[in-house]
Amino acid sequence: MISLDNIDIILVETSHPGNIGAAARAMKTMGLSQLVLVNPQEFPSVVATARASGADDLLANAKVYDNFVDSIRPYELVIATSARLRSITWPMLTPPECANKAVTQQGKVAIVFGREHSGLTNEELDHCHALVQISTEPNFSSLNIAAAVQVLSYELRCAAEQNEHNPLPTVGDAVTAEQMEYFYGHLEQALLDTGFLEADKPRLTMRKLRCLFNRAAPNQSEMNILRGILSSIEKAAKK
Ligand code: SAH
Repeated sequence: MISLDNIDIILVETSHPGNIGAAARAMKTMGLSQLVLVNPQEFPSVVATARASGADDLLANAKVYDNFVDSIRPYELVIATSARLRSITWPMLTPPECANKAVTQQGKVAIVFGREHSGLTNEELDHCHALVQISTEPNFSSLNIAAAVQVLSYELRCAAEQNEHNPLPTVGDAVTAEQMEYFYGHLEQALLDTGFLEADKPRLTMRKLRCLFNRAAPNQSEMNILRGILSSIEKAAKK
């Protein structure tokens, strides 16, 4: 299993200390260790410690910030979670896609969880690179925050186990989240230009292609080849 040490969980303005403790417990069962809290309403708290049931070391080591933007500065990849579908400004990931992206990322990764009552604001989402939603019943989509932490932590563990024979690219060779986004933009454009994608509904196919390429986790030289192929396809399509 590859390490989960570079993946942190951020909880934004949690109002219930019991949820902080339950989230710490969920993390520890899956091998995650760094909890980050932004403006928790009540922390430290005996209720949090009781609900952590032995994961109180994570509570003791939690980093506490008073604003969200400061909390995400250390990370190369920041993935937000949402109970609701938002506008499609943010790339949507399924939990396994999110986990695969996180465990194959060079550098530090944060998975961000919102307030119990209102989730994350659009301004907070603007600072995130992607959005992950746990599939639910459409008219009852909001999990308890610690349950959501459990689901994603489990997916992270599964992805870490699956990737053990697929080591991370060497430092310097990794493709950044931003480069992957440029690639997806280029891929979508090329597939629209050639007529493979229909202009009004490219979403599902693009999501599947994201899943495929995220799983492959291309390195820099592979990415150069992929971009070169797309350029040559576009050139041919324009002839
Ligand atoms: N009414 C809020 C619900 C927040 S639930 C809203 O509409 O956003 C509290 C947090 O739990 C969310 O911000 C998110 O971090 C997490 N969460 C709950 N349900 C989720 C789901 N289906 N997928 C991903 N995260 C979820």
